[in-house]
This record gives sequence, C-alpha cells and structure tokens, in this order.
Amino acid sequence: MTDSVDGLREVDVIVVGAGVSGLTAGRLLQQQGLRVVVLEARERVGGRVWTDRSGGLVTDLGASWIHGVNGSPVAAAADAFGLPTVEFTVGGYQPDSRPIAHYSPDGVRLTDEEAVRYVADIHAVDEALSGILPASAPDASYRDVTDEALAAQGWDDERTQRVREYLEHRAEEQYGAWIEDLAAHGLDDDSIDGHEVVFPDGYDRLAEHLAEGLDIRLGRAVDAVEWGSEGVAVTASGEELRANAAVVTVPVGVLRSGDLRITPSLPGPVQEALDRLTMNDFEKVFLRFSAKFWDEDVYAIRQQGPEGVWWHSFYDLTPLHGVPTLLTFAAGPAARAIRDWSEDRVVGSVLDQLRRLYGERVEEPTSVHLTAWHADPWARGSYAYMTLGSTTADHDALAEPIGGGALHLAGEATWTDDPATVTAALLSGHRAAENLLGRAVPLESLWTLPPAPPTDGDAEAPRTS
Ligand SMILES: Cc1cc2nc3c(=O)[nH]c(=O)nc-3n(C[C@H](O)[C@H](O)[C@H](O)COP(=O)(O)OP(=O)(O)OC[C@H]3O[C@@H](n4cnc5c(N)ncnc54)[C@H](O)[C@@H]3O)c2cc1C
Repeated sequence: MTDSVDGLREVDVIVVGAGVSGLTAGRLLQQQGLRVVVLEARERVGGRVWTDRSGGLVTDLGASWIHGVNGSPVAAAADAFGLPTVEFTVGGYQPDSRPIAHYSPDGVRLTDEEAVRYVADIHAVDEALSGILPASAPDASYRDVTDEALAAQGWDDERTQRVREYLEHRAEEQYGAWIEDLAAHGLDDDSIDGHEVVFPDGYDRLAEHLAEGLDIRLGRAVDAVEWGSEGVAVTASGEELRANAAVVTVPVGVLRSGDLRITPSLPGPVQEALDRLTMNDFEKVFLRFSAKFWDEDVYAIRQQGPEGVWWHSFYDLTPLHGVPTLLTFAAGPAARAIRDWSEDRVVGSVLDQLRRLYGERVEEPTSVHLTAWHADPWARGSYAYMTLGSTTADHDALAEPIGGGALHLAGEATWTDDPATVTAALLSGHRAAENLLGRAVPLESLWTLPPAPPTDGDAEAPRTS
C-alpha cells in the first residue's frame, strides 16, 4: 500500500469505508480503469464482517449467515473465492424448517405434537399479517400490525401470548429493535430463498478477497466530505484529498452522529430518509463448553414465557468446528440493559437460563465472546432499522446520486430489498459503481475479473460524473 500524498491527489474516486460495500464499489470501479483509493478508519478491512481467531477459535463477531443461497451474489462470490460454507438454516428466526427444541414457560420441552401446533399458530398469524400490512397506517408499528393479526385468530390469552412473544423476539433478533419501535413494514424483506450457510473459516475471508489489489489506506478516519461541481474534497487524519467523486459507505450511525461532516448538507429527501433510519441494539454472546449438555440433533433451542424475555434462543454452532458452542443474542431492550454489565454478569445471566432448562449439567464455559457494536465509533450499532413513519423506499432514497454524481452513499442501509445484510452491502456497492460510471457493469466481474485491468495505456477514459 502506498502512502504518498501526491498519489492521493491523482485518483478518480475516493471510497470511504472498506466494508463489503466500499470494497465492492472500489474493486468494480478499478476494474473499469478508474484510479481508486479506499480510506478506512479501522486498522483492518471488512467493517461489520469481522472474524476473531484468538485461541485458535474462529468466531464471526459481525455477520455470520448468508440468508438464503439461491441467487445470492454473496454465495456466488464465496464459491468463486473457494470459501467453505456449512449449512445452518435458522438464521432468519424461522420457527421450523430445521429441528428446534422448543421449551414451554415452565422449562419443559414441547412434545412434537405441541411444537407442530405452536408453529402452525405462528404461520397462521404470518398469513393474516400479509393481508394486513398493505393497508397499515403510515406510522404503524410492527406491534400494531401483528396485534391486529393476532386478534383476528380469536384465541385464548395463553395461546395468543405464546405467538405474541415469538413476534417480539423476531423483531429483536432480525432487527435488534423493540417491536413497538420498528415500522410495520420493517420486516417486509424478511424472506429466505434457499438454505442458509455460515463460514467455518470466517466471513472475513470474503472481504480479504474483495480487498486484493486495491489501494486501501487503513487508520484514516474521514471527518469531512465536501462535494460540488468540481468533485469532492475529503479530509482524513488532517489530510485533504481531492477526486472527481466519492462513494461514502459508512454506517447510518456514523452519518447521523455528525462525526463525518458532509457539506453542503445532504439534499432534503436524502436527509429525511436518513432521519427515519436508526442503528439498532444487537450483540452476540458466544459460549464454548468442554462438553455438550443440550439436546442432540437440533439447530436451536428456544424457550417461551417470561424467563425467556431476553435469553430465548440458543444456536448450536458445534457442527462448525466440533467444539461445543452456543450462540445467543442480546437484542433490542436486552442489549440496552446489559450495556454496562461486566462480561461475567452477562454470562451468569445466560447460564441461569440454560440451567433452568438443563440443570447442573451446565458447566462454566471454557471461553466467551461478547460483542459491543453499540460502542464501536465506526459502526454505532449492528445495522439500521426502519423507525415509525419510515417506508421501505427510504433505503433506496439514500442512494440517489448527489451533486450531479460527485457524491454517492452506499452500504447495507441503502438497499431496499434486503437491507441489514452483507448482500445489501455488496449490491449497494455495485449500484454506486454503476451510477458513478453512468453505465451497467456485470456484477459477476466482482469475482470473475482481476482487481484491475491490464495497464497497456489504451483503456478507454472513464467517465466519473
Ligand atoms: C452482530 C452482527 C451480526 C450480523 N449478522 C449478519 C448476518 O448473519 N448476515 C448478514 O448478511 N449480515 C449480517 N450483519 C450485517 C452485515 O454485517 C452488514 O450489513 C454489512 O457487513 C455492512 O457492510 P457495509 O459495507 O455496508 O458497512 P460496514 O461493514 O460497516 O463498512 C463501513 C466501513 O466504514 C468504516 N468507517 C466508518 N466511519 C468511517 C470514517 N469516518 N472514516 C473512514 N472509514 C469509516 C468502518 O470502519 C467500516 O469498515 C450483521 C452485523 C452485525 C454487526
């Protein structure tokens, strides 16, 4: 990586952020012959794709899943880069489709018959919901629409409550938001096409492959982006860099914080869309044990009732590496409540719940990973969700080219179809590259072409506005 100031002045495009979105945009633009530099605040690439390898254990602290491999560009890229994957299809808070051990509020495992009835109730409410959503009020919450769907069933209180709490947990696990704070349409994108997979060697390998051959300057926190008819001026670590255009891929939390000043301010519709999206509260807790004490042959363990208000779901990651491992999430209110807790206190709280279900067979874990994305200045949460009054179109509104194409926003929150995912980040980077070039670029060139075109001097001059 070069560090020359002169080099910085001789670029066509400055990409801010070396997450999957920025790496995708940068790589595609460079393949098309543009001179690109990527400025990244952290000392690593990948952003919210981040794999820890301490103690010889591979732990994805950010993204884990490809939520449905059918037609997924992330799956295609992973395949082309030779990244191994393991099937693990419960990453979308499905109530079924793979074996799940459901426990009653008393801590007793539901019989197969009881589980089938419970799951059928959830599907009945989802079906009713699909009819209710299109007619929902613009400021309705996910609670409002799901309560309407529940009321339509005519069930007794107990039966209603079981599904009501499932819906709360789904809002928390899928979006890290309390159900009353999430817009009615906030889970519209929540569909999985094909099975889901995780990465036993770490999701970060994807980012590393995308980063190959790019000029990435690590440790460069951008604090100002100025755009105008002449192009852009970007200030990072006290140094001003100029280019024809910029692609800014920082998370919504960073954009909203004011730590990165954009001048002139964002156009009204872009700013208004940004104001309606906010970062969530969603943390992972990985517990590794010397021996498995939980049910055999299940993907997940779920408990119903008040005891499971925080720690309701545990995912068995043992098949990834053969080490007995459970993953649970602190999401929404739980994540906010434990922010100031010590790791020991969090682990104690999770173990209390596991001991309700499995008794004294539950030993102390041999290792723990607890994330703190809310405290990360370059993320400020795990991903964005739609607050009340937001529409799904707010995502795409963020990506409208600004200043005649001088400034492009990209990143997971700018993609309507599947926001909050690696797929969204990748596709938004592709769209930013196409918008910047003013022409279509085949997405698959991301993984089929080398990072840069041959330098024979006769490449067609690229258009950057
Ligand atoms: C705990 C967790 C679990 C998740 N689970 C999944 C999952 O299972 N499947 C899935 O598909 N997705 C998941 N996601 C979401 C997924 O990780 C993100 O949607 C995706 O990685 C976002 O990519 P991005 O490029 O848009 O943003 P980022 O990865 O955040 O990239 C933006 C980059 O900008 C940098 N940056 C920020 N501010 C500045 C600045 N001022 N100057 C310079 N650089 C800056 C950041 O350091 C970062 O590297 C999860 C995320 C988290 C946190």
